[in-house]
Amino acid sequence: MQVVKRRAESLYSDVFVPGETLAIRKEARQFADDVVRPIAYELNTTPEARETFPRGLFDALAKNGIYEIPYPADVGGRGLEFPTLATMTVLEELAYYSPSAASALYDGQAILCGKTLENAPQHLRNEYLPKLVRGELVGSFATSEPDASTDLSPAAMKTVATRVDDGWRVNGRKRWITNSVAADFILVLCRTGDAQTFLLADMKQDGISVGEPDLKMGNHAQLTADVIFDNAYVPESHVVGTVGGGLKAALTALTLGRMGIGAIGVAMGQAAFDYACDHMEKRKVFGQELARFQHWQFTFADHAMAIENARALYQKAAYLYDKTGRADTEAAMAKVVGSELAVELARDAIQVCGAYGFARQVKGSNQQLPLEAIYRDAKIGEIYEGANEIQRWIIARKIFGRALAG
Ligand SMILES: Cc1cc2nc3c(=O)[nH]c(=O)nc-3n(C[C@H](O)[C@H](O)[C@H](O)COP(=O)(O)OP(=O)(O)OC[C@H]3O[C@@H](n4cnc5c(N)ncnc54)[C@H](O)[C@@H]3O)c2cc1C
Repeated sequence: MQVVKRRAESLYSDVFVPGETLAIRKEARQFADDVVRPIAYELNTTPEARETFPRGLFDALAKNGIYEIPYPADVGGRGLEFPTLATMTVLEELAYYSPSAASALYDGQAILCGKTLENAPQHLRNEYLPKLVRGELVGSFATSEPDASTDLSPAAMKTVATRVDDGWRVNGRKRWITNSVAADFILVLCRTGDAQTFLLADMKQDGISVGEPDLKMGNHAQLTADVIFDNAYVPESHVVGTVGGGLKAALTALTLGRMGIGAIGVAMGQAAFDYACDHMEKRKVFGQELARFQHWQFTFADHAMAIENARALYQKAAYLYDKTGRADTEAAMAKVVGSELAVELARDAIQVCGAYGFARQVKGSNQQLPLEAIYRDAKIGEIYEGANEIQRWIIARKIFGRALAG
């Protein structure tokens, strides 16, 4: 894939970003340039199949210590002062080249699974988290079902955990489960009576099977599949959080995941912006470069402001979380603004690049082009980890209170 100038370097100031985070950005960018960029086209355009799980990239992330960044030192992590800010920064760097790999291997693995484990009972945290940091285990995080995802109320959910002498038996079907084809363990939200309980189940047991990967319009490197539970056994010690407190445990990790979707959106927007600006400076129509047309100057000036806003939002949400342990409204804002920015920027970037935006390969000149994949990959950001309507609802609750907003 062609290397283009990174416009963020000269456009924006990092005046508020801690030195620790800037060092992590440098490290993550080096990794992304060296390891992700050379395989990005393949990651972003190869249709889903069991054997396309990006194991090589997963192993490289572990080997280079990138999974250490979100965690405290006692589980093998870096013990950073601003771990959430650093984690979101890593996501942006990885997603600049492959949003789907970043989503699966970092948002899914390191944030949804890792942060759930970090907040899990001590014995689960100590047993599982160091292995996750070292890249010895792949995890899945399962809340969605064929008939329920946005609505995870006990009335809507059909995956049921039933008490047995020394633990639980789980029956049901989860859908769209990222990394399930390669997972060693699964965090699964189950209905237990009138509430939900989050359980950690071993995937390598007879009672659990995984379907074929779904074929999607984008995010090809993020393999999703159904996970079927047929009397699967979970020991009592593998309850994450409390019995009946499962939704709270899941939502804690999802708050961080949502910031991550904001950061991934910023990355896609920035990548589309950089590619399109490069094209506009070189491509001539009616005898002059596209960059000389004021229509496109103004369009991309607006996008430059939108990127700055979206990046500042996810950084502020992450910084606040590191300082206070809460950032629900800020995470919702970061998710909406980042994901919508990516869709809008990808559309305008393709428009100004014309056919060179719409195509992924030009056979006549042996070129591989990035924008069509960004356009396909951007859409899911508005849907997953809580549709943007739900994020607006979270923000509306803060404005009007639950009495009015529900
Ligand atoms: C690539 C990918 C990876 C995924 N990975 C995982 C995973 O690892 N684990 C997991 O559990 N799930 C995963 N999912 C599922 C994802 O989280 C859900 O698709 C998402 O939560 C939306 O649920 P749904 O698709 O069932 O849509 P529904 O719940 O049916 O909602 C459909 C639409 O209804 C609208 N809507 C819903 N509620 C409201 C409301 N209150 N007000 C207004 N509008 C509303 C929204 O526009 C929403 O998009 C993944 C999905 C994809 C595509």
